[in-house]
Amino acid sequence: MNLREKMHWEQQQKALFEQAQGYAFDYADDALERNVFPTDQAISDLDAFVEDLPNEMGDAKTILEQLHQYGSPASVSQTGGRYFGFVNGGILPVTLATKWLTDFWDQNTALQVMSPITAKLEEICEQWLKQLFDLPDSTVAGFVSGTSSAIFCGLAAARYRIYKNHQWDFNQQGHNGAPPIRIIASRHTHGAVVKAIALLGFGIDNIEWVEADDQGRIIPENMPDLDSSCIVLLQAGNVNSGSFDPFDEICDRANAVDAWVHIDGAFGLWAGGTERLKHLTQGMHKAHSWSVDGHKTLNTPYDSGILLCCDKEALVSALQATGAYLTSCYGESRDGMLYTPEMSRRARAIELWAALKYLGRSGVDELVVGLHQRAVEFADQLRDANFDILNDVVFNQVIVAPSSDDEVTQQIMEAIQQSGECWVGGSLWNGKKVIRISVCSWVTSPEDISRSVQAFIKARDSIITASEK
Ligand SMILES: *Cc1c(COP(=O)(O)O)cnc(C)c1O
Repeated sequence: MNLREKMHWEQQQKALFEQAQGYAFDYADDALERNVFPTDQAISDLDAFVEDLPNEMGDAKTILEQLHQYGSPASVSQTGGRYFGFVNGGILPVTLATKWLTDFWDQNTALQVMSPITAKLEEICEQWLKQLFDLPDSTVAGFVSGTSSAIFCGLAAARYRIYKNHQWDFNQQGHNGAPPIRIIASRHTHGAVVKAIALLGFGIDNIEWVEADDQGRIIPENMPDLDSSCIVLLQAGNVNSGSFDPFDEICDRANAVDAWVHIDGAFGLWAGGTERLKHLTQGMHKAHSWSVDGHKTLNTPYDSGILLCCDKEALVSALQATGAYLTSCYGESRDGMLYTPEMSRRARAIELWAALKYLGRSGVDELVVGLHQRAVEFADQLRDANFDILNDVVFNQVIVAPSSDDEVTQQIMEAIQQSGECWVGGSLWNGKKVIRISVCSWVTSPEDISRSVQAFIKARDSIITASEK
């Protein structure tokens, strides 16, 4: 058989897909109880993949076997209930199943004519997100790989608009000789925002930093005077404390002088989609662009970032370097590529649609508030066990200081990680080493919290006793 015949046979037989399904189901059955982080053995077994690029064609069945045998045990159990590292979301079953189905479609979402179904669902997601977050009617959405990319798009739109307001066509005239743009950002701005500032050529040294309070919220009184050359960067969900900047007041000041406000809400923007937590995002609709992930709080599969922007002309002009947005190449249809830097993209909005369709407003509320409640339980139980909690747990993040000695904190964190019971990462908070907990998965139950608290206590006891000897 030649290559085409062989692959045709594999496609027709479907045995390969049944094999993958069998492995996937085994993995899912195991996910709730297995070691949260892979064992040292599993990691050293990854050497099984080390080889020169093969000369000969491989065998599909053996490839899947190898992946399951060595790959599955070396994956991090994010789909279980006790992974609290970084800010990484779980996955809703309906979105995983949707991904499987639509993987068979393998759609390209650049143009409506390439995939009418994806274009339709992007349009619907755009509408639904606008309704959920109560954003201006003019808001459009770009479906990108993640919040890092979404921030980049939002700031590109901001740059286009501010220059346009000053009679400068950035696409044509570029940076040379351009009037200055001022960047105003909080000391607690996420690294992804700083990266976008650098990538877009604003220069990190040019950022006007604004001090934040003890929760990491920007202090409005410390804001410099704004003018029409300003891009103001605010945050819904501080990556350590989960706190929210005061949007209402700062947006009013920005709007009074035609400055642009971008809100980075990678995981926190979803608070604005709930009844019970939306007080946290009050006034967010007065901004101009917003970045948010599906793959964190909403628990869609990875590779799901969203840029929302109420200035369609600025966004499309910035990303397409042309005014062609007025009439797309194929008529009235919504071509997804107008709102993203890429042309070809996978159909990630379908999983987002499935999540929103499945959850509805009440499900979003229950999911997001549930994460908050688990975080509050985590903090309460740790406090009862004499751990210092350094933040107000307003959302899903908890900052724990197990010791005033950075070295001891580090050792306790490593002992927790090595227990396999749960996984938490570290961060710096006011110059001190801390443990950061992020409750991000629908799977996490009250039992997962109690069990993880026990892992904290056991780790602390083992380190403190050992250091006393
Ligand atoms: C995760 C995160 C980002 C980056 O998002 P990606 O989807 O990983 O690109 C940016 N800002 C905040 C606040 C985040 O939590």
